[in-house]
Amino acid sequence: MKSQRLKLTAFMLAAVIFSGCSQSGSSAGSNSADAEPESVSIFAMDTYMTITVYNGDKSAALSAAQQRVQLLEGLWSVTEEDSEVYRINHSGGEAVEVSDETAELIDFALDMNEQTGGALDITLYPVLCEWGFTAGEYKVPSEEAISELLKKTGRDKVKLEGKAVTVSEGTSIDLGAVGKGETGDRIIGELKANGVSSALLDLGGNIQLLGSKPDGSDWKIGLKSPFDTSDNIAKLELSDCCVITSGGYERYFTDDEGNIYWHILDPKTGFPAKSGVISATVIGKSGRLCDALSTSLFVMGEEKAKALWQSRDDFDFVLITDDDRLIMTEGLEGRLTLYEGYSNMKIETVKK
Ligand code: AMP
Ligand code: MG
Repeated sequence: MKSQRLKLTAFMLAAVIFSGCSQSGSSAGSNSADAEPESVSIFAMDTYMTITVYNGDKSAALSAAQQRVQLLEGLWSVTEEDSEVYRINHSGGEAVEVSDETAELIDFALDMNEQTGGALDITLYPVLCEWGFTAGEYKVPSEEAISELLKKTGRDKVKLEGKAVTVSEGTSIDLGAVGKGETGDRIIGELKANGVSSALLDLGGNIQLLGSKPDGSDWKIGLKSPFDTSDNIAKLELSDCCVITSGGYERYFTDDEGNIYWHILDPKTGFPAKSGVISATVIGKSGRLCDALSTSLFVMGEEKAKALWQSRDDFDFVLITDDDRLIMTEGLEGRLTLYEGYSNMKIETVKK
């Protein structure tokens, strides 16, 4: 089905990525030793994570955060044989008793499946494997293979009763679209418990901000250009929120004809989502909500994204489309500035 294929020009290949924050002069604002930030970098959940704390009991906070990340990775890994997700996926249709953390996240993801009209679907794992996105051995599957696999996907294949998770035989789940956001929320919980009120988390491009910079000003977050990933298209000035982006750039491959296939799939087709949105950034208080929604809006496209935003009041978004438009919601007015060189980009602001 040719129409399912993604044929984008080379410049589109350079999709959107989030840089970390530039912290213009934050630590220079104070001479007190307490204002010196402390950081830890961890490789977990298939990505590099950096946590920087500016106050509180910094060492204790970072070590608690690190332990929390390792614990959650141990629960949600799809490949580690003693993880809860692995046990669910190899249960042969039997119920598996899981931790509070896993039960809560699955419950949330199932709810988000309904709220996004099915765009967020944790049962796509076998389809992702067929494309080779899990092992990095990419191939374009046959339509027959995809339609066979799609028979095993969908919300109705997962049952959650208390902390008992049952998936139908042949169904496998993957919490990759929501796990990092949830992890960020739980890291922030650990930081707060250790007296931290100013911190910056960069979890592989997911930015989560605790409070403001130590001098009380907003953090500045660069939004990478989809036209040149070495460049920022805009900056966002924000405090105490999450800024989470989904884009095809994170994992993709190109076939001999130049068609690009990325790792975010449309659950309806089993093919890479082709909605016209090439980058979806969601801003809000809850990391797991922003994570779930960034993946979902990428799949849903502009019109459905706008409609979802109109019906809720717990997030803002920035979408970049394959026809060079930047669509943002009104909550970001005065907080987003396009960089020179992109000032000809058409900005549309969505209002309630
Ligand atoms: P994110 O980077 O948060 O957008 O998550 C992308 C990851 O979620 C992919 O690498 C897949 O493991 C998985 N995934 C892909 N498409 C979907 C989808 N429509 N719903 C849920 N998870 C997905
Ligand atoms: Mg996500």
